[in-house]
Amino acid sequence: MQESDPIVTISQWIAKAERIIVFTGAGVSTESGIPDFRSPGGLWDRYDPDEFRFQRFLESEESRKKYWKMSTEFFALLTRVRPNPAHEACVELDRLEKLECVITQNVDNLHTEAGLDPGKVIEIHGNALQVGCLECDARHPRAEIQEWVDAGEEVPLCRKCGGLLKPRTISFGQGMPVDEMQRAEACMKRCDLFIVIGSSLVVYPAADMPIHAKANGVQLAIINMTPTPFDEHADLVIYGKAGEVMEDILRRVKQLLIH
Ligand code: NAD
Repeated sequence: MQESDPIVTISQWIAKAERIIVFTGAGVSTESGIPDFRSPGGLWDRYDPDEFRFQRFLESEESRKKYWKMSTEFFALLTRVRPNPAHEACVELDRLEKLECVITQNVDNLHTEAGLDPGKVIEIHGNALQVGCLECDARHPRAEIQEWVDAGEEVPLCRKCGGLLKPRTISFGQGMPVDEMQRAEACMKRCDLFIVIGSSLVVYPAADMPIHAKANGVQLAIINMTPTPFDEHADLVIYGKAGEVMEDILRRVKQLLIH
């Protein structure tokens, strides 16, 4: 039931809103050069997702080697990429005092790198630039542990307790981070507009969030290149590239706020 130009409509909603949640997925970072998982040529075209289940990491040295190999490739990519206009648009929304928070499924740190207040970024699938010990929870910067891996340690172990080290990202089958989920729920109670950008909305429990927001009476907008299972429940859907669409929207929002 979209009659008028959805870009005009969402710009008007943003101009009126005071506490927006932007919920992002891998599609917000593809214009920075990080492939998503499910598009053609994405990560799951090259790797079998079953190989990277958390249980396998715990049980099999062979799986841990594969994990660190894939993760090393991903980290090398992360050191080369920069935020794009979609990440910058989130910073701009905060400057305009419109942003409650960004809830991101991404682990690439690009929202923070774009300059968004870290207190407003909720990383529900963790952050690939941090490493933690699964036994004693000792934390390390990724670059430090990557040096050990690059020096030949295929599966790095904690120097304090000998436990398994793993990037602090959430694998399939691994529990969601409690603090982040609580913070996200608290923000969802306060928000007045929920905008999904660049997510296939098929990864759970993250994908429940837009539907919960909608059930709470919050307007739901989805900006994605391809259809999602929730499009029919959304108040507005825009098919397009996150960076281009968000640049266009922010330009219009600023015009509306001036007049
Ligand atoms: P996904 O791969 O399942 O879906 C990405 C969606 O974004 C697709 O529907 C695709 O059509 C769309 N898309 C791609 N490029 C776009 C663009 N330029 N503009 C708008 N839409 C675009 O990703 P997901 O929903 O985030 O879930 C997959 C999981 O993969 C998440 O848990 C996430 O943690 C992880 N992941 C993260 C990164 C990252 O940190 N950058 C990269 C790959 C995967």
